Amino acid sequence: MALLRCRGLRKEFAGQVVLDRLDLTVDEHRVVALIGASGSGKSTLLRCVNLLEEVDDGTIELDGEDISDPRVDADRVRRRIGMVFQAYNLFPHLSVLDNITLAPRRVHRRARAEAEAQARDLLDRVGLGAKAHAFPDGLSGGQQQRVAIVRALANSPRLMLLDEVTSALDPELVGEVLTMIRDLKADGMTMVLATHEMGFAREVADEVCFLDAGRVVESGPPEQVLGEPTQARTRQFLRRII
Ligand code: ADP
Ligand code: MG
Repeated sequence: MALLRCRGLRKEFAGQVVLDRLDLTVDEHRVVALIGASGSGKSTLLRCVNLLEEVDDGTIELDGEDISDPRVDADRVRRRIGMVFQAYNLFPHLSVLDNITLAPRRVHRRARAEAEAQARDLLDRVGLGAKAHAFPDGLSGGQQQRVAIVRALANSPRLMLLDEVTSALDPELVGEVLTMIRDLKADGMTMVLATHEMGFAREVADEVCFLDAGRVVESGPPEQVLGEPTQARTRQFLRRII
């Protein structure tokens, strides 16, 4: 069943078309990787799905509900979606535990003890249990990004959106974050991730979508799109980055 269905999305910034009649369907428990040159619209697409940007045309359905309807309560929708960005944006003045429990306590109105128990459980599972009381600047970049993912998971989202979550990391720290995403997939999490890591996209994605100028030029199984692309623009892009 489709958990996310984008139809005919159009987005302009100051007259520049950034998403151009874009369609994307993500079935439950599937992982879709968005690839494409810088500026092709990957982040804008993810931001539109999370209602951080309004679309100019088209519809976005989450679990059968049209969430692009302007009357929809965006906060209620975002509670079902976890998003993690390229630069780990943890609150520097809050401990790891407080970073993770802030939204569950404030937005979901969970009791502190319950939110903290869940946070500790999530931290233990990713090997960061000992860091519960650390502050972000006492963690490595990889640890910070793993905490950011845990924080997104603390809202028990149906869908995770990951926007180049390893791009800002030193190479030796990329692996631990990718391992975490691999584990999420094994747990059945539905994910859409923008990535420059083609090897990882090939391994973890059920489907790869190549975006160019706001359109899906080519999509399909990773071995097809990355291994035997049918479109000249996909081949050009892959030649440039590999
Ligand atoms: P990608 O993530 O694939 O690199 P983006 O979605 O960030 O691409 O950007 C797509 C295009 O939209 C780029 O040309 C970018 O400059 C433009 N863009 C993105 N966000 C804004 C914004 N808030 N205002 C104006 N232009 C934007
Ligand atoms: Mg981007």
